[in-house]
Amino acid sequence: MTWRSAIVHCGAMKFDLHCHTTASDGTLTPQELVDRAHSRDLELLSITDHDSVEAYRHITVPTGLRLVPGVEFSCQWRKYSIHIVGLGIDLDAAALDEAITHQTLARNHRAELIAERLQKYGVQDALDGALREAAGATLGRPHFARHLVNTGFVANESIAFKKFLGAGKPCDIKVGWPSPDTVIDWIRAAGGVAVLAHPGRYGMTRTRLVSFLEEFRQWGGEAIEVVSGRQLPAETRQFAELCRRFGLQASAGSDFHSPAQTWLDLGEFSTLPDIPLVWSRWLEPQ
Ligand code: AMP
Ligand code: MN
Ligand code: MN
Ligand code: MN
Repeated sequence: MTWRSAIVHCGAMKFDLHCHTTASDGTLTPQELVDRAHSRDLELLSITDHDSVEAYRHITVPTGLRLVPGVEFSCQWRKYSIHIVGLGIDLDAAALDEAITHQTLARNHRAELIAERLQKYGVQDALDGALREAAGATLGRPHFARHLVNTGFVANESIAFKKFLGAGKPCDIKVGWPSPDTVIDWIRAAGGVAVLAHPGRYGMTRTRLVSFLEEFRQWGGEAIEVVSGRQLPAETRQFAELCRRFGLQASAGSDFHSPAQTWLDLGEFSTLPDIPLVWSRWLEPQ
């Protein structure tokens, strides 16, 4: 059974707690993203750019849409690159500034190493190319992928990841990422809630995921993305069961990056299970 035949659409939902803008690797500007969310009748949105909250400085929030300040941090646990979303953070917190400075340095250093590695494969000036693609955004592998496509080195971004940049490939360089407890500390120090992003995308066995969640809970993690973008109902059930087992709340987000992802839009997920929802805390009348 494929996810396409199994997914249960319940129309456009009114929430989305995970999406990206041009401040990281998304293709819509922050204002285009909030306008799109508004036009899709979303009531609650969190922009969760990779290691950046810059988007929040460039938006006018339309009436009727409430924003939960968020961020998606990269970290490393054993051999896995894990993403932890911080929701409800204080954008002016000193801890957030420190976190973003740390992550930016790690990303810039990693980018130099990625460019060196790509040079061995015959790609010249990859760092300059990626920096041009990023245009001031958080520098990431997608910007290298776009450079490889634009210079004709590969046919599309998917191939760039498959051959060079994806997990376990030659340019997947893991350096400088903090451990999850450090990231959770940053999020909590900024007054936010730590949410494990897209648990189905790490290639972990169930046993490994359980080990991670045991530690995640102890470190102060509070929620899991029970639904992330396109996903099989069986996965949703499994993550919901893990929420119950570990006393975690459920979050949900599309992980929207671009309107070109035609299979998925803002606020579009499969049905949510009946478990405590992390966003209920932001739905009190203001
Ligand atoms: P980075 O933040 O630099 O580690 O890059 C990770 C980002 O690359 C993810 O957030 C995705 O947006 C993107 N990505 C990861 N794997 C793929 C893939 N196979 N194809 C296209 N984009 C990908
Ligand atoms: Mn991304
Ligand atoms: Mn992610
Ligand atoms: Mn994401």
